[in-house]
Amino acid sequence: MTAAFVLAINMFIAGIFALAFGVVAAMNRTAQGARWLAIGYATGIVTIPLEFLLPWQTDPAPVVIGTFLVYLLALTFCLIGIARHYGTAPPWRTMAAIWMASVLAIPVIFMLTYGSPARGLLYQLPYFAMHAAVGLVIYRSKRRQPLDLLLFTLNGVAASLHLLKPLIAWTIGTATEPQGYLATTYAAVSQSMAAVTLVALALVLLLVMMRDTTAEMAARSETDALSGILNRRGFDLHAERMLAHARRTNEPLTLVTADIDHFKSINDRFGHAVGDQVIAHVAALLRQSVSDEAIVSRLGGEEFAVLLAGASLAAGRRIAETARERLAADRLAQLDGDCMVTVSFGVAQMTQGDTLFDLSRRADAALYRAKSGGRNRVSLALGEARETPTPPAERPPEFAERQHAYAATQVSPLPIR
Ligand code: GH3
Ligand code: MG
Ligand code: MG
Repeated sequence: MTAAFVLAINMFIAGIFALAFGVVAAMNRTAQGARWLAIGYATGIVTIPLEFLLPWQTDPAPVVIGTFLVYLLALTFCLIGIARHYGTAPPWRTMAAIWMASVLAIPVIFMLTYGSPARGLLYQLPYFAMHAAVGLVIYRSKRRQPLDLLLFTLNGVAASLHLLKPLIAWTIGTATEPQGYLATTYAAVSQSMAAVTLVALALVLLLVMMRDTTAEMAARSETDALSGILNRRGFDLHAERMLAHARRTNEPLTLVTADIDHFKSINDRFGHAVGDQVIAHVAALLRQSVSDEAIVSRLGGEEFAVLLAGASLAAGRRIAETARERLAADRLAQLDGDCMVTVSFGVAQMTQGDTLFDLSRRADAALYRAKSGGRNRVSLALGEARETPTPPAERPPEFAERQHAYAATQVSPLPIR
């Protein structure tokens, strides 16, 4: 009676979580893991009516085999779901091996005495193996945040309980035939343990999904969809943190701002779609030019900012010069053979007491001077270092003039996005 009661509760719990994972999957189309977990928990429900049918069977074998395999199927779906969520390939070969061994074990299970530790162990081993595979998936994902560790631990506990069950059955005794299982104390204990692990694992999994969805949404709101680098919002957030760190540690910090030269005429000549590709190209090159720690962002339109932690003005200038040269040397297939994309740069180093606004203003002023000085050049913020003009050989011959002349002929500028 007690076990039957716990079993009914388990059915209810599995149903609630199947629904919860289903809602997560429906709300987030990319949440493939949640879909599989919903299917897994829903499949698990099927084992419960089977358990209730068992006492009424003259030949228990079909229902026992059915329950054994349906629960294994439920665990398989959950394993696929967890692997999908953790971004690793489901361990298909391991799963196939567990299934093959389980099917082959069925006749052996029936040859052993019901209630014996050997039979119990053989019955529980596939479940232990599935949980072990879940543990391996989490371990291989290399994610080590507290919730991942909690999930890993709880899964380990669930795996161990499957090994413990035959021991518990042997210690407190169980029925002599499958039909008597539901009436035993062992069934009540076993089903209660299942209830606890069912709830704990599902709750932690939902929390993991909530955490990852929130992080994904935050990252998306800070990312520029066109170029894949940070947008202004992302830049402001990360830059403030970097500035605070530099203030604390007294390490140098340099801001490089960049603006594509005569971008409007590129748009006008080749169309907005090509303009977009040029923006993405410049963003990618800037990203490649700096270390992973640097903050690279598209502030808007064709303007970019690169914040370099630990970099002096001279280092910032070197990086800007290299990027400028590489950009000017690139020939984009989308543009005419003779058309080059050039970029102007402004560089400023943070001084004690500088806010992000102060630093940006000085870098922008330097950028403005790079523009007015002829474009395709790097200018340093005034008062920070003596400027050395870009050698004439590096300047684009008469490109700027040509672009200017072309822009002047355009009467209907394209709308600003
Ligand atoms: P300068 O050398 O002085 O920087 O001249 P410019 O033409 O690059 O600058 P201006 O500010 O006059 O024009 C910027 C153009 O960038 C205007 C706008 O239509 C275009 N633009 C802004 N955002 C986007 C975008 O997302 N995609 C495309 N293709 N164009 C954009
Ligand atoms: Mg521009
Ligand atoms: Mg601009």
